[in-house]
Amino acid sequence: MNICTFCNKDFSRLSSLTRHKKTCKVKKDYEFEKQKQELIQENKREKDRIIQLEKEKDIEKEKDRIIQQKDDEIAFLKTLLEVCVNKPNIQTQNIQNISGNQLILQLDPIDFSEIKDNFHNFDLNKQKNGMTGFAEFLCKDVFNKKIILTDSSRDIFRYNTTEKKDVRDPKGIFLLNESIRQDPEQLLSTLVKTREFLEECDESQDKIDKTTRAIKLIRKSKENISVHDTDFSNVVKAHALDNMNQNLFLQE
Ligand SMILES: [Zn+2]
Repeated sequence: MNICTFCNKDFSRLSSLTRHKKTCKVKKDYEFEKQKQELIQENKREKDRIIQLEKEKDIEKEKDRIIQQKDDEIAFLKTLLEVCVNKPNIQTQNIQNISGNQLILQLDPIDFSEIKDNFHNFDLNKQKNGMTGFAEFLCKDVFNKKIILTDSSRDIFRYNTTEKKDVRDPKGIFLLNESIRQDPEQLLSTLVKTREFLEECDESQDKIDKTTRAIKLIRKSKENISVHDTDFSNVVKAHALDNMNQNLFLQE
């Protein structure tokens, strides 16, 4: 008896069975199905492996997020300490339960369109001081009490804007460029006139240089190149630290 184990056909001769096996449709289907199943299994194992890897990645990310959060809080506490150093009579119970994340929620949003409305306050005395004067004007008329510094070692400013909540702005780069870009033409024409005026009345070279530097920065920022200025960020930093002082300690 020469029976095909796939389709059960019986053959009188072994050679016939051997020939049949090369073309047996049932055998072909069986082998095809087997290969398909193997591929499916392989595919499934691959998918499981990817899912596992992604899980591991998520855990890593979550770890990084927690570490970042802790770093943020440590930086915030260090900054607080800095604020506290010159304040002998601090009521510590006021600050022990506050975190940078909570404090930011209490701040009113910065509205950059207020720059235009208050531009007249950017007067000659401020113009003469270039970026320092521009920062002083912004702090007083626009940023007001709406900005804090939660990481003084890396100069990370935090605030809300009318567009976005909880902006983290290292070195105040966004603040500077966004402020310039409200109306760069007006800023430029004002400062160019101021510089001419300073040159005419033989004002000190230092003031003229400050104005020139401010004009250069504004031109660059206008071309969408983000500029950074230490004079600017130092003024905003002092202002932000002072705000924290007031927000945290004079609240009662
Ligand atoms: Zn067969």
